[in-house]
Amino acid sequence: LIAKGQAEHSVVTTCAYCGVGCSFRAEMKGEEVVRMVPNKDGHANHGHSCVKGRFAIGYATHKDRILKPMIRAKISDPWREVSWEEAIGHAASEFKRIQARYGRDSIGGITSSRCTNEETYLVQKLVRAAFGNNNVDTCARVCHSPTGYGLKQTLGESAGTQDFDSVMQADVIMVIGANPTDGHPVFGSQMKRRLRQGARLIVVDPRRIDIVRTPHVRADHHLKLRPGTNVALVTALAHVIVTEGLVDEAFVRERCEADSFAKWRAFVAEGRHSPEATESVTGVPAATVRAAARLYATGGNGAIYYGLGVTEHSQGSTTVMGIANLAMATGNIGREGVGVNPLRGQNNVQGSCDMGSFPHEFPGYRHVSDDAVRASFEHAWGVPLQNEPGLRIPNMFEAALDGDFKGLYIEGEDIAQSDPNTQHVTASLTSMECVVVQDLFLNETAKFAHVFLPGSSFLEKDGTFTNAERRISRVREVMRPRNSDGKRGYADWEITQLLSNAMGYRMDYAHPSEIMDEIARLTPTFHGVSFERIDRLGSIQWPCNEAAPDGTPTMHVHEFVRGKGRFMLTEYVPTAEKVNAKFPLILTTGRILSQYNVGAQTRRTENSRWHSEDRLEIHPQDAEDRGVAEGDWVGIESRAGQTVLRATISERMQPGVVYTTFHFPFSGANVITTDNSDWATNCPEYKVTAVQITRVTQP
Ligand code: SF4
Repeated sequence: LIAKGQAEHSVVTTCAYCGVGCSFRAEMKGEEVVRMVPNKDGHANHGHSCVKGRFAIGYATHKDRILKPMIRAKISDPWREVSWEEAIGHAASEFKRIQARYGRDSIGGITSSRCTNEETYLVQKLVRAAFGNNNVDTCARVCHSPTGYGLKQTLGESAGTQDFDSVMQADVIMVIGANPTDGHPVFGSQMKRRLRQGARLIVVDPRRIDIVRTPHVRADHHLKLRPGTNVALVTALAHVIVTEGLVDEAFVRERCEADSFAKWRAFVAEGRHSPEATESVTGVPAATVRAAARLYATGGNGAIYYGLGVTEHSQGSTTVMGIANLAMATGNIGREGVGVNPLRGQNNVQGSCDMGSFPHEFPGYRHVSDDAVRASFEHAWGVPLQNEPGLRIPNMFEAALDGDFKGLYIEGEDIAQSDPNTQHVTASLTSMECVVVQDLFLNETAKFAHVFLPGSSFLEKDGTFTNAERRISRVREVMRPRNSDGKRGYADWEITQLLSNAMGYRMDYAHPSEIMDEIARLTPTFHGVSFERIDRLGSIQWPCNEAAPDGTPTMHVHEFVRGKGRFMLTEYVPTAEKVNAKFPLILTTGRILSQYNVGAQTRRTENSRWHSEDRLEIHPQDAEDRGVAEGDWVGIESRAGQTVLRATISERMQPGVVYTTFHFPFSGANVITTDNSDWATNCPEYKVTAVQITRVTQP
């Protein structure tokens, strides 16, 4: 992909990896990229970048790209290359056959946070209007769905409250279950700049992540909790704030519901929630919890940043609400330098949620049972729509195993590698009669597909991504969508449109800007958004409408989106995933800097030189107890399954806890994760799996 020599022209676009959403200038020679240069005018990155956005783009022209549609009758058959017409026609006729035989609700679709807003919008429209049901979900289900739920309940909007630059006004930064230097490197660097200027730092994480101790940065407090005890810890912090008189009474009186606050205050004040009473649960010394709570409540502007270490738990939504409670109780919300900020993993997690990719919500987080909202979409789309929520991803798997769900359209998501309990996922896929995978590569999920539609990379399409700070940025076509015959292929939105037309529901968009115009017409928080305005302003943070024509960097300034802030009770319920003599260690998972999620892209780039395998991090004591030395192969067994990895012995870990990444299919991290999930959203509990480790010979 990377051509040598002088660039002839450049195109400004947005990185397709993490939720920072860095702006780049793709310097081009003909149709080849010479280099990716971070854009000094980029509002999210100000000219900075990381090793993924700058160097890991070679996957776009990798030899593994599939450029010709393929079909097969059975998953045991070889693939047969066919024309686009035949592939789309086959997928549509199979979906129609399945619905005729098994009913309207027997098929569904999954969108991806890797695709543009316009593409995810079209998938949910395809499902609701062409399939005639609400069986649409997004990969945000398995990462930040608890953020959507928890922040909506407390603050009234399913999004972070601040822009990234706000961190430069923070006096105390609390990082909970996030690893910004690996997961969100450009923002992690900005956070470190603020810390070097003197901001104080509290880290809540079972593992000693980099930001706890890096050059010129030392966390004031590292609350090294046991995985699965976030709720107990957050409630203990609240206990200290309430019982030591650290509540911002004026803020709460003016901005929050009196009733819910009174109930919450009485609840957290109970002695059973004190740091001393919960020390044996969380493993964090009570004095450390007290010191951290005092610092957050009294240290000036307190800003909370959190990640998947909060959401991917059986009580993920409860912890999100507990974090919002802390911010409201201390008045740390509604101005620069404070707030509740989910660090979104993928480039367009925020956007895929905003676009109505959940089975219960239309674009703009409006419930499908809302008659007025549904009527507006029925009027615009010209079809009757269902008023009951459809199936979430795990419900689709269950329904498939029950024989009720037979067809699935998957755009840009490798559920056979990324979702928990791989055996369960693959059994579900195997039981379906038509699985359509639209992707760049023959990924793990494609092994169970009957139709493969070649998707397009971010370099091959126009559209928008929305980053973790609600910033909508343009993605621009740098090269033509690839095709096997050298002619122009299709961007993903065009493929969805073809499928919809073949299903009998007409779509005739000529360009993604027309899709965004429709989104803006139908979504109050997007009323002012258009490609023209984004191009003029550089980027826009929603809400962008009549009240905020240039967008909204900080939310909830004068009042919360829901009016008064609502405190929610956060009762700690231990996870069902227990350690015992057979499975005495807890496995937790995460990412590293150079690779990205399931690695479908970064594994096919030079980044694999820096990290070519997933490893199991284990504390020296646990390693010694098992006779494991650095680099040894170890077997990892859980209640769900088993796999084999090489070990890295690390003081970062606490005794009893092991850690791995999930970037390589061979590692099988999700073979061992379980079906446990968040009580409110079904977000999988990736962060807590009871395991046993044994030394093995090389597999
Ligand atoms: Fe891309 Fe995130 Fe790196 Fe920026 S920080 S270059 S958005 S991966």
